[in-house]
Amino acid sequence: MITRQNLHTHTNYVDGVDSPRQMVEYALSFGLESLGFSEHAHTYFDDSCCMTKAQTLEYFDEINSLKAEYKGKIDIYLGLEIDLHDIRVYEGLDYTIGSLHCLPVEGKLYPVDYKPQMTQFIKEKGYNNDGVAMAVDYLKILSKNIALSDADIVGHIDLPTKFNGDNILFDEDSSEYKNAVIKAVDSILAFKKDIVFEVNTGAISRGYRTSPYPSKFVLKQLLDRNARLCITSDCHNGKHLTCAFSETEAMLKNMGFKQLWQIKNNIWQAIPL
Ligand SMILES: [Zn+2]
Ligand SMILES: [Zn+2]
Repeated sequence: MITRQNLHTHTNYVDGVDSPRQMVEYALSFGLESLGFSEHAHTYFDDSCCMTKAQTLEYFDEINSLKAEYKGKIDIYLGLEIDLHDIRVYEGLDYTIGSLHCLPVEGKLYPVDYKPQMTQFIKEKGYNNDGVAMAVDYLKILSKNIALSDADIVGHIDLPTKFNGDNILFDEDSSEYKNAVIKAVDSILAFKKDIVFEVNTGAISRGYRTSPYPSKFVLKQLLDRNARLCITSDCHNGKHLTCAFSETEAMLKNMGFKQLWQIKNNIWQAIPL
């Protein structure tokens, strides 16, 4: 395993099972050099899946004090996973992940990654049962809104594929979807050419998928454009902190990627694959 870092880490502040300290201990036990916390930033539209404003301050304090306490043993980075429906800029962060989770149905936002029935509901009620239109709209909102953020990392760029085994929700091979992927990737890179795309193994650890997202087609577009990648586990349980990292590295190497990107000494650096 070349990746010695996870930058997409959740805790019991929201929907993870472990405390930040437990996560640091897990990171040490897995031999990581550094750990980045990316708890769900507060949003105006959903209290259940993000920190309150008061928790955000506590979270900043706790991660910063762990950073000091573990200095010399492991590097800790303070980040947030910012929801792209509610972009805010925070002082004092080491990095941010810009992620889109929800799509609108009759003016209300619903997560595409919560459970299959809900994604089906979004497709039916929000997009007239047109799954490709749903996935295309996700990419459009993501690529438009990320350019309004200060995100360093693009979170799970093709999240609507989470429950799309056997193309049950939409045809990932359709030219309409593929063209939307290309357009989204190009527009994100035009906004920030050194932005890092995560290769997210979270759905593997939760049993929803056998391969990470983005899909091979998305990855190929990123490869062709020399885009930067990092592997993350979108970890909600410390046991899965490095879930499928080795397999993902092997897959990327096979595809032709030559390097991955990690934060080292507070600077993004290339790590040869
Ligand atoms: Zn997310
Ligand atoms: Zn996450």
